[in-house]
Amino acid sequence: MTATPLATRLRAFSGPTIFTEMTLLAQRTGAANLGQGFPDGDGPPAMLAAARAAIDGGMNQYPPANGLAVLRAAIAERRRADHGVAYDPEREVVVTAGATEAIAAALIGLCDPGDEVIVFDPLYDSYAACLAMAGATAVPVPLEFDGTRFTFDPDRLRAAVGPRTRLVLLNSPHNPTGTVFDRAELAHVAGVCRDHDLVAVTDEVYEYLTYDGVTHVPLAGLPGMRERTLTISSAGKTFSATGWKVGWACGPAPLVEAVRTVKQFLTFGTGTPLQAGVAHALTHCADWVGELRDSLQRRRDLLVKGLTAAGARTYPAQGTYFVQLDSRSFGFADGVEFCRALPHDAGVVAIPSVALYADKEAGRHLVRFAFCKSEELLTTAVDRLGRYAATRRTAG
Ligand code: PMP
Ligand code: GLN
Repeated sequence: MTATPLATRLRAFSGPTIFTEMTLLAQRTGAANLGQGFPDGDGPPAMLAAARAAIDGGMNQYPPANGLAVLRAAIAERRRADHGVAYDPEREVVVTAGATEAIAAALIGLCDPGDEVIVFDPLYDSYAACLAMAGATAVPVPLEFDGTRFTFDPDRLRAAVGPRTRLVLLNSPHNPTGTVFDRAELAHVAGVCRDHDLVAVTDEVYEYLTYDGVTHVPLAGLPGMRERTLTISSAGKTFSATGWKVGWACGPAPLVEAVRTVKQFLTFGTGTPLQAGVAHALTHCADWVGELRDSLQRRRDLLVKGLTAAGARTYPAQGTYFVQLDSRSFGFADGVEFCRALPHDAGVVAIPSVALYADKEAGRHLVRFAFCKSEELLTTAVDRLGRYAATRRTAG
């Protein structure tokens, strides 16, 4: 056998992801895990009860490949009621194994080898891997700090379009920067898509987790965009159930059909009783989500206050689970070195944002902390970081 049996196009992606690596490190060292973005509390009790009832009620065989009808109806109703975008649950909604499968199926189903896909850099780790599976090429447009938040230069977005461009892949609210793209920014994306007849694929898994009165605007709601946008989301973040892996894609029938074609051979279907639980949550648990959002905002503030007190330069997070900081505040030019030292020297785990960057130089000094953790754990982490910063200052 050759040195590695892994297909050439996937070699760059071998080994565990940065999230797995950092969670294992936290488990090994007993450090406070502010790395991988999963909450340490459960979702709404009524959702958990609905899934249990579905199991007890015998909903334990394959779901329809499109997903349970009750879930598709609940997804369509939320998009209509919350965002004013209407979808036919029969033909324009498909349920997937988390947003991750929807993203994979969309990229594999919509791209031919050699096609180009415009992405915003930094980008969620699965995007590059799925583009490699599809044989497509990522064309990154940088998100840069403009003094207020991370955003893109519209001219660079326009300049990224070429003859092989197939689609634009946009994540908002954005992991790891915390940016929630506003109408003006989305209008630039929409303009580029319309002018060049491009498809847009949006990853909106943090759609309900926005703070300080900032609201999430789906790209599909902008003029001329519903007919060319595939909107992806999932239950993981909205209902604190990242292990359930129930996601979905909504869009015009031909785009949804492309996703369905791929996903029926990737997984066919996923978690029948969990789909029933999520259908219940989407229909009945809006108040719970509102409380989650308020609580996450308080926890973000607790973390930012603690990091600032420890002398860190942080960047504002309008949404998501994440806050970024500049590792140079702690005397590290390199975020990877900082994140390697932190579990042992401070008892805290974070994610070097560079793992999500195409342009490694741009993300070198950025580190991501997750605040979807208990107040107790966040307090422990900031206390430890405060003490660590003090020892660094004394040593320096
Ligand atoms: N997109 C982004 C931006 C994410 O942060 C994540 C991680 N939760 C996902 C997609 C994956 O979502 P899911 O767990 O529903 O597959
Ligand atoms: N979305 C999670 C994060 O950004 C990670 C999910 C995973 O580990 N695949 O932390």
